[in-house]
Amino acid sequence: MLRVEQLVKTFAGDHSGGKDDEQETGSRRVFAVNGVSFTVAEGELFTLLGPSGCGKSTTLRSIAGLEDPDSGSIALQERMLFSRQGRSKPVNVAVHERGLGMVFQSYAIWPHMTVFDNVAFPLQVRRRKDKLTRKVIESRVMRVLETMELTKYAQRPATKLSGGQQQRLALARAIVIEPPLLLLDEPLSNLDAKLRESLRDELKRLQRELGITSIYVTHDQVEALALSSRIAVMQEGNIVQLGRPREIYNSPSCKFVAEFIGTTNFLPGVVCLREGSRYVVRTSAGELTLDSPIDVPVGSDVVVSARPEVIDLHTEGSALSVANEWKGTVLSRSFLGDSVDHLVGVGEYTLRARVNPSVSIQPQSQVFIRMSADRLTMMAA
Ligand code: ADP
Ligand code: MG
Repeated sequence: MLRVEQLVKTFAGDHSGGKDDEQETGSRRVFAVNGVSFTVAEGELFTLLGPSGCGKSTTLRSIAGLEDPDSGSIALQERMLFSRQGRSKPVNVAVHERGLGMVFQSYAIWPHMTVFDNVAFPLQVRRRKDKLTRKVIESRVMRVLETMELTKYAQRPATKLSGGQQQRLALARAIVIEPPLLLLDEPLSNLDAKLRESLRDELKRLQRELGITSIYVTHDQVEALALSSRIAVMQEGNIVQLGRPREIYNSPSCKFVAEFIGTTNFLPGVVCLREGSRYVVRTSAGELTLDSPIDVPVGSDVVVSARPEVIDLHTEGSALSVANEWKGTVLSRSFLGDSVDHLVGVGEYTLRARVNPSVSIQPQSQVFIRMSADRLTMMAA
């Protein structure tokens, strides 16, 4: 198990004419990671997800030993890799002593070696006490090459591989040492969309099969949802939500998460009734009834998030008045292949409804939208 506690990493404000124009004095510190804590269980694929610059790579690099954090601690199993807190004696294990597997965005293969030698190298350079015989090395390399479907390229120069194959090679080289923890920083982002998807599926299969505890960094929410056992969503150096993919998607904790992970409609309103976990929220387009685990009193300003796929469209209204049924007008529609998005005007709102491709309603038509109470998410305004 990996345990990261209260990790902080700052950088000097950039005044060399770089990324951030406001850092003129150069004396201000940029909090790349601002007190991040999480644990990763054995065999998990744990993802750090967030927009560019939120501190994902800095967190990962700190675990790898490539950054020198200001404070906090990082422990793998019972072993302290890094610790700097209060008056206790600092610990900072060197990169190569941590023995972790790493794969980064750029392939970083050794161009002057064959595929086989690229994978064998990390085993050959081991120190005397951990030395393996040539036979053992060969069988381990061949086994990993087979897993990565690279066997037939074993004797090929590494540079004579396609982008996807080079990235599989980088992965092979990282896992051949059988690391207790595999660190992956946007490993698929240099590949084209189709290859990215197939390699993503392969990575998932491999990770589950081999049970390698992994930390995966990405800014791509689809990738994160597809791969992860759990996701930590980061914003400006902090973790803003941590949970299973379904939890994060279905119950985002704040507007940032709701918007970052997929598309959503925000409906601002005021709580006008509450009975236990059942709420009624008054919005400018009408009332919404919903269930929410959060605890807010009547009178609070809130925002309700309705994912496009939780909004159903009907050409007829219900005979009896039902909760969460609003009358609107279709403004436009777009065919997306596996679904049809309708933009529906309801009062002052324009809502996106994503429906089955068998449903397609002409612009200017009157429609009734229905939203199920248990699929709406309420959050503080
Ligand atoms: P991410 O991987 O989420 O895109 P990073 O961890 O790379 O984000 O960066 C987080 C913040 O720290 C950004 O504001 C970035 O500009 C800053 N930063 C990262 N590395 C350095 C560095 N070596 N020197 C100065 N600032 C840095
Ligand atoms: Mg990064």
